[in-house]
Amino acid sequence: MSEVCVRVAVRIRPLLRRELLHHHKVCVRVVPPSSAQVMLGSDRLFSFDHAFGPTASQDEVYESCVQPLVESLLDGYNATVFSYGQTGSGKTYTLGGGSQDEGGIIERVAQHVFLLLATQKNNESVEAMVRVSYMELYREELRDLLDMNTNYKELHIRDDEKGNTVVVGAREMVVTSAEELLSVVEMGNALRHTGATGMNEHSSRSHVILSLQVNICSQSINNPSLKSVRSSKLCLVDLAGSERAGKTENTGAQFKESALINTGLLALGNVIRALSDRRRCRRGNSCSGAHVPYRDAKITRLLRDSLGGNAHTVMVACVSPSHHFVAETLNVLQFASKARHIRNCPGPAPP
Ligand code: ADP
Repeated sequence: MSEVCVRVAVRIRPLLRRELLHHHKVCVRVVPPSSAQVMLGSDRLFSFDHAFGPTASQDEVYESCVQPLVESLLDGYNATVFSYGQTGSGKTYTLGGGSQDEGGIIERVAQHVFLLLATQKNNESVEAMVRVSYMELYREELRDLLDMNTNYKELHIRDDEKGNTVVVGAREMVVTSAEELLSVVEMGNALRHTGATGMNEHSSRSHVILSLQVNICSQSINNPSLKSVRSSKLCLVDLAGSERAGKTENTGAQFKESALINTGLLALGNVIRALSDRRRCRRGNSCSGAHVPYRDAKITRLLRDSLGGNAHTVMVACVSPSHHFVAETLNVLQFASKARHIRNCPGPAPP
């Protein structure tokens, strides 16, 4: 199986109205002509697979970063897209936000998956099924966003006999069109809002995971005994605000919560560091097989296939251009640079 690197894109959002009113200065920009490099301040240059400035459209981001993953999904490969960055940097806008025309990655994935399935159905005798699950991870508790009956049910994760992480009892809904898929997502968002007190705080502290399981069974028209089954999964993950990764100065209940959020983001940082070191070690022919601490948090267990596993993975690191956030932007760019060293081995997912 051939290895591919986790691909990393950086997206710099525009200055917001209130930032313009308060004369915030721009501290990070895409450096032409390659448009895959960003400069922080006047002397810190970072290279990525893609870099998008404030005028980049949702279309551009989708076409360069996500479209190839959706195509490989329908060929039977697992794929993951996750957004990382501080609260207010554009993670939600990029994944799911914007107006109808400027819809984010989730809207575009929904349209694209069903368009590709319709095209396949024209060519072969194909049966396809798309199942959605939608979960939220908050304070190390995994909740089902699609189970209305049990009202914000907690889910458990365990390892199966092959060592794969499985979520026990998550509700999966079959969807037959982009519209149906998007209404399921809306339903999950509504449950998330009612289940949470202080929605803004809550959303900056939780990870949200939308999964599409695609099963395609095709039969040759000339020879009906020739059947093939492909099964694959796409995960779209909106991570908690990265500013939570290093903050432990709260006290009491807040400290506990902060520590629990840190567990996830710190564990993610440690996994990314271990995987990027492992790759460098391999190139230097020493210290191979370094331990990767996936088990330290639920988010790293859930992202195991996506980081060092069998999926095609894209990370979209979102940053604010404002000089007020220069320290956090530097953290995010350094984190994203490390993620570029991770190698995955995408193979067709098991049927
Ligand atoms: P996060 O999910 O990281 O907390 P949001 O996605 O909510 O951040 O973005 C914060 C604000 O910035 C929102 O008002 C959003 O509409 C705006 N915004 C973010 N990215 C862009 C962009 N690329 N173009 C225009 N507005 C954006």
